[in-house]
Amino acid sequence: MSELLLLSGGIDSICLAAWRRPACCLTIDYGQRPAKAEFTASTQVCRALGLKHETLNVPIGHLGGGVMAGSLPIAASPHIEFWPFRNQFLITLGAMYALRFGYAKVLIGTVLSDRRHADGHPEFVKGIAEVIRAQEGMVEVEAPALNYGTAELIRLSSVTPNVLGWAHSCHTGVLACGHCPGCNKHSKTMGEIGWNR
Ligand SMILES: [Zn+2]
Repeated sequence: MSELLLLSGGIDSICLAAWRRPACCLTIDYGQRPAKAEFTASTQVCRALGLKHETLNVPIGHLGGGVMAGSLPIAASPHIEFWPFRNQFLITLGAMYALRFGYAKVLIGTVLSDRRHADGHPEFVKGIAEVIRAQEGMVEVEAPALNYGTAELIRLSSVTPNVLGWAHSCHTGVLACGHCPGCNKHSKTMGEIGWNR
């Protein structure tokens, strides 16, 4: 089955690129502050892995919130990187792209730690997969690492340090701030797998 991966250029989606070797990787600039760094990371990863890479620009930064949008947090969530309906928006764009260009399945990089957000829960993944499958084209949605931690996924994917080294995890901009949830996760993960020594 021909697979399209939503590749953000963060650790989890890079591991999926190395593991699943999808027919195409899609990186989306939706107005998030780190978009340029995510594009660079994704481009370099696809080049290193020999994978096809496509990009989309769908600017909705004015609808986002918190550190990723560079605006005040949205009160509906206690998490500073919360962006309302972000995953269903990105998965829908992925499904539109897949149907338009002939891919049967959209892969997303959700892992265990994403359960801090409602759209990182298995119930959400199951629900969005059913909603998309119920429509014309029956595009599939799969989160292959849904039940894995990031360190576990790195080991499972056999991604190499020179590929994962391109990962951009910061939510706040193109340079790692060192203290946002994305940077904290990056640093904790590198410690867990022993790549920070
Ligand atoms: Zn950061």
